[in-house]
Amino acid sequence: KPLLSIANLSAQVEEKQILHNVSLDVPQGEVHVLMGPNGAGKSTLGHVIMGNPTYEVTQGSIQLADQDITELSTDKRSHAGLFLSFQAPVEIPGVPLSSFLRATIDKREGFAMKNKEFRHTVEALADELSMDRAYLDRELGVGFSGGEKKKVEMLQLLLLKPKLAILDETDSGLDVDALSVVSKGMEAYRQTCDGTLLIITHNTRILEHLDVDQVHVMVQGHLVAQGDASLIDEIDNAGFEQFEATLADMR
Ligand code: ADP
Ligand code: MG
Ligand code: MG
Repeated sequence: KPLLSIANLSAQVEEKQILHNVSLDVPQGEVHVLMGPNGAGKSTLGHVIMGNPTYEVTQGSIQLADQDITELSTDKRSHAGLFLSFQAPVEIPGVPLSSFLRATIDKREGFAMKNKEFRHTVEALADELSMDRAYLDRELGVGFSGGEKKKVEMLQLLLLKPKLAILDETDSGLDVDALSVVSKGMEAYRQTCDGTLLIITHNTRILEHLDVDQVHVMVQGHLVAQGDASLIDEIDNAGFEQFEATLADMR
C-alpha cells in the first residue's frame, strides 16, 4: 500500500479547473519527481495535497497511509506527516528564525521542547547543512539569499521529520551553493528519517545526485506520462513537446 495515494483528483480555483483527474502513488521510502512546463499545475498539486483552501477539490481523493486526508485542514495534514516546502519562502520581519522553528516544532509535537534541547537540536542541524549558526538569531527570511532560504527549508524538513516531503523548487535558477544545500538536505532526510520525497521541478539539475524511483509528467493539469529516471534525460534532451502532443492525442 502506497504512503501517498492520489486517485482521480480534480481541482479548481475561481471556477477555473486546473487539475484534471490526476492519479499518482508514492510508496514509502521512494523518491518521485513531478515535472512539467511552467503553468502545468505542479505547484497547484502540491498545494492541494497540503490542503491550501485557495483550491477546491471537485473530484477524487488523497490518502496518506491509512487515512483519507482529502477534507483535512492543513495543520492536521502536517500533524499526519506531510510537509510542503514553498516555491517562494516567506519573510517575517521581527521574528527570529529560531522562534519560528520553535513554534513550528512545538505546535507539531503538542508540547514545548526544553530550551537547551531545542537549541542543541537546531544548532546540530545548522552545522549539518553548513549554515552559519548566526542565522538562527536573524529575522526570518529578511535579507536571506536564495541559498540561505533553501537552507532554512531544509532545516525545517530535518527538524520536523515528516513522513512525506513535497519540495517545490524555485523556478529561478539555484546557484551552486543552493543546489548543494538542497542535495545535502534531501540526502540527510532520506538517511536519518527514511524519508519519502515528491520533488516538483522543471529544472533537472537538482536531480543529478538523487536516486530517482519514478518520474511523473504533467501537462495542462493532466498527468500524461510516468516512467523511471531515464525520463529525466529524455526531457533534458527533447523538452516537453512530445508530452504536449500526447495530451492532444488523448483528447
Ligand atoms: P506550475 O507550478 O506547474 O508552474 P501552477 O500550479 O503554479 O503551475 O499553475 C497552474 C495554473 O493555475 C496556471 O495557469 C496558474 O495561473 C493557475 N493558478 C494557480 N494558482 C492560482 C490562483 N491562486 N489563482 C488563479 N490561478 C491560479
Ligand atoms: Mg529508492
Ligand atoms: Mg510551480
